[in-house]
Order: sequence, then structure tokens, then C-alpha cells
Amino acid sequence: MILVARTIGPAELLDYDRNKLRGMIIEDGGSQSHVAIVAKALGLTAIGRIRRVVERVTTGDAAILDGETGEIHLRPSQELIDAYSDKVRFRAGRQQQYAELKDKPSTTKDGEHISLHINAGLQLDMAHLDESGAEGVGLFRTELLFMLSNSIPRLDRQISSYKAILAEAGDKPVIFRSLDIGGDKVLPYLRSTPEENPAIGWRAIRMSLDRPGLFRMQVRAFLRASAGKHLNLMIPMVTVPSELDAIRVLIDKEQALLKKWGYEAPVAVSVGAMLEVPSLLFDLDALMQRVDFLSVGSNDLLQFLFAADRTNANVADRYDELSRAPLLALREIVRAADKHGVTLAVCGEMAGRPLEAMALIGLGYHRLSMSPASIGPVKTMILSLNRTKLTNRMNELLQSNSEQIRVALKDFAAENDIEL
Ligand code: PEP
Ligand code: MG
Repeated sequence: MILVARTIGPAELLDYDRNKLRGMIIEDGGSQSHVAIVAKALGLTAIGRIRRVVERVTTGDAAILDGETGEIHLRPSQELIDAYSDKVRFRAGRQQQYAELKDKPSTTKDGEHISLHINAGLQLDMAHLDESGAEGVGLFRTELLFMLSNSIPRLDRQISSYKAILAEAGDKPVIFRSLDIGGDKVLPYLRSTPEENPAIGWRAIRMSLDRPGLFRMQVRAFLRASAGKHLNLMIPMVTVPSELDAIRVLIDKEQALLKKWGYEAPVAVSVGAMLEVPSLLFDLDALMQRVDFLSVGSNDLLQFLFAADRTNANVADRYDELSRAPLLALREIVRAADKHGVTLAVCGEMAGRPLEAMALIGLGYHRLSMSPASIGPVKTMILSLNRTKLTNRMNELLQSNSEQIRVALKDFAAENDIEL
């Protein structure tokens, strides 16, 4: 079954029978909208930005969805079906190759290890950790648990969810992100005033600091669920470094209560931030001094850097992430993290696209977090890459004011037999 809709929220998607639903076509929404991210997590092929598709289909129509190109073919001819059947067989062969790479370390040809992690948001994603051979969960989006509930999940329910996730991860680390509600992630039961610009409105850490009750309950649940384990807690949408001081006060209070009530504590608590707001680019030293780790949320960072709404089909892909401004910004982050010895990752969608991941590695990133299906293609690229050569090339490109960086990087990959 293929779902065709004008627009749909991530929670609605879960109302459909997952054994039947194979894909979805939506008129709205870019590849980085949350419904697309949830669809990916569910293993669905999701195609967005197909104008007027709802009025052009009739129930029962056959359709081919090409997740690679973003194209759809309504009522396809037999020739097209045959051509796509070949393509699907070829893809299955590739999946087999990726599966064989699972236990192979993701190391470049010149010996740089690149740590690959998965993004997750549902307990069922955790099975992908071993399947993909990823080293851990670089981003666990906890808001999905809240979006799928009819009311705020109570403390005991949160504890058991987080515990189950940690149990499935075994020895592999999990980075839990505190609630990032707002933007296109809405909780129907949480009353909030309508906003003109919700993506830059009262969301994530801003809500946590103004109404700490919900945040503190979540921290309490993380701490309780991580008894005897390492808790990695990541804060979204930090805009000024001092917000992290206020967040630390709340976490400290919860740690003190945990002790007072006699619960077993985690063996360690690391607090990190997402870098998603451009103001932080100009205050990197102060930021680095306050975090145990940092993850670049390139989906939001780029939408704010380019002032281009990631969910608006007309502008979402208008500006190139492989162009000078974002690449220079991303390189500055690496320099500051190296200077302060802060563990740095990228967990936005660009980390899961082989060419973009290659560029990130060229800039000095050693840790990438992505949807599980991207681990195989990205690892394949890494195994065929000489990082030093790429870094030199990227430095040249960034110095030369090139406006064709994407093309130049593709050429570099072709000349050096890098598998993209
Ligand atoms: C991001 O902004 O890049 C990110 C990973 O967070 P989300 O997609 O959940 O906003
Ligand atoms: Mg984000």
C-alpha cells in the first residue's frame, strides 16, 4: 500500500499497518522534514514535493517510488516495471555487499578511523544497531516517544522506555537528546500559543529553561534508566553558551535528588549540545568549554544559515550544503573542537549521504551519525577514500573561492575511485 497525502504528521504515520504500508507520496515536505525522517526510520520509501499528486491519483493506482531520485511513476508501463525490477535486483545485491561490511572497521585507506553511529527515535530502530555494525546511537530523538503518546508519558513509562533502549544497545553508547518539541514537532496535549515561526520559536531548550518541570522529569528518567551505566545527554537548539550553565543547574538538582532518594547513579554523566543555531559559530570557545561532546545538527544549522525552511518544498533544497559558507562554518567547528579536545560529530541528514559525508571527513570530522540504511553506503565510501588527499583538495577548493565545490568533489571521487 502506498499512502498519498497533501501533508502528514509523523505521529499519524504510525496509525497505518506497517506490514502493509510500503511507501508514501506527499505534496509537501522536504527530505529533512520530520515525517520524512520518521518514514525512513520505519523503512518506508517516502517521496515529498510532488505537486498536485493527490488530485492526480485514484485509489488502486499502481505506482513506482524511486527513493534514490525522488521520482514517482504513476500507472507505470510494463517496460518501466521490468526496468525497475532489474534495478531492485541490483539494489538487493548491493544490500548484500553492505551486510558483508558490517564487521569491517570503517577506516580510510590512509588509516583514519571514522566512527559511524545511527540516528534512532523508536525502540524498534535499535535492532539496526547490530544489523548495520554501527558503533552506537549518535542521536536518539526522544520526542517520538512523546508524539506517540496521548498525554505526557509518566516518569515510570519514560524510565522503562529508556531502560529498554539501553538494554538493546548493550555495550554500545546511546546519546539521548532531550525533548526537541516545537517547529514541526508538535505535542497535541501540550497547550501552546500558535506561533508565526515555530522553528525559531519557543522550542527545545527554550521550553526546558522556561518550564523546567518536563525537562527535569525527563532527566530524572534518564538518570534512573542509566543506573550503573554511562548517561550521554544531548541538549538541542542551544543558542548562547550560557544556556548550558542553566541546564547544568537543573541536571545537578536531579542528580542530587537521585542521591538523596538512594537510587543507584549512572557511572558517568556526559552533557553535550547540538550545534544547530548559527550564533554559536561566533562563540565556539565558550561553547566548547561547557560541553563534554558536540553534535552538529546540520538539518537545522543549514536551514538557519541559509534562512531556508527545511520543511518548505519550494526552498528546502535551494541552497547547496556543499558550498563555501556552510563548509567554512563546518571547518571552524572542527578547529574549535580540536583545540578544546571535545568529541565532535555530525548527526544531520547530510552525514548519511556519501558525497556529503566524504566532504565532512575532508573537513576533519571523525564521527558521523545517520539513518541505519546509510551506514553501508557511507562505509563503502570510507573504505575507498584517502583522507589526506581529500583534505588537501578541500583546502585548495575553499581557498580558491570555487563556486563549484560539489562538482569538484564529485570529480575528485571519480578520479580517485571513491565509491559513492
Ligand atoms: C538536525 O537539526 O540536524 C537534527 C539532527 O535534529 P532534527 O532533525 O531532529 O531537528
Ligand atoms: Mg534539529
